[in-house]
Amino acid sequence: MTLPVLSDVIAAAGRLRERIVRTPLISSASLSTIQASSVFLKLETRQTTGSFKLRGVSNTLLLSGQTAKGFVAASTGNHARALAYAAQQMGKSCVVCMSKLVPENKISAVRALGADIKIVGSSQDDAQQEVDRLVLSEGLLPVPPFDDKRVIAGQGTIALEILEDRPEVDTLLVPLSGGGLAGGVAMTAKSVKPSIRVIGVSMEKGAAMAASLQAGKPVVVTEEPTLADSLGGGIGIPNHYTFNLCQTYLDDIILLTEEEISAGIGHAYWQEQEIVEGAGAVGIAALLARKVHPSGTVAVVVSGRNIDMAVHQKLVSEYQKI
Ligand SMILES: *Cc1c(COP(=O)(O)O)cnc(C)c1O
Repeated sequence: MTLPVLSDVIAAAGRLRERIVRTPLISSASLSTIQASSVFLKLETRQTTGSFKLRGVSNTLLLSGQTAKGFVAASTGNHARALAYAAQQMGKSCVVCMSKLVPENKISAVRALGADIKIVGSSQDDAQQEVDRLVLSEGLLPVPPFDDKRVIAGQGTIALEILEDRPEVDTLLVPLSGGGLAGGVAMTAKSVKPSIRVIGVSMEKGAAMAASLQAGKPVVVTEEPTLADSLGGGIGIPNHYTFNLCQTYLDDIILLTEEEISAGIGHAYWQEQEIVEGAGAVGIAALLARKVHPSGTVAVVVSGRNIDMAVHQKLVSEYQKI
């Protein structure tokens, strides 16, 4: 299967121009001082629906969705929000399948964006089986969260925007789960600027892509609760694109403890005045933990903001006491 390439991303950027927010790349004074280098934050927290996921979803719907009756996905979080929103914008229906373990606040957030929710089984795999069934029985178009060329190309537009704004960036820190984001960003950045370094950042607990790269093939890991809940889940077996992209284009992977991720969330709040979810804060956390030592100009993809606000409040109030 051929991998997505730079021209797919450039085409996606054209398609997305009127549909997504061109998010700001802001200078971080606090992190620049700590690192003794220039650090910029790419704020996908400001993206519509609160994460970058709208990029990949919108690119897929614009490429393949015009004739579809409606859309379907299995997701508990940001992918579901993005899909529900984009479907509503197109005036089409959207079904999101979730297991009965998904908390009510996540269900209602997606329902509020206009999606029909189907609660099935007790795992993400059960939810995915329901997606496959609905594709066949209802003729809905499945929209995968990461392992899809259209999705990867959409996420890659983040790298185009960063290098347009700051061509001098020489290190990129990118959150890593299924690898649609990191794979798309790394392929795009290195195609535009081969000398750039791209580092994926995950949590220590249940990092499927890190374990897969180590094993040299996609492997299953046990999912564990983590503050970076948007980084949970497997990479898919078989995996068609993102494993290869990450293997080819990522220079390094950094794994973080829960304490380090929590510090990233706290720093984002107290120093940058940004509400950032755990997955979105891992790049900041990697710099704070000094697990990466970049020398030149760094851009950090801050990928999302959708955190339970009660959890956020607790974390940031405890952060001050450290
Ligand atoms: C989905 C998501 C990620 C990880 O993206 P992948 O393409 O699965 O690697 C990171 N941060 C946030 C906020 C997300 O929603």
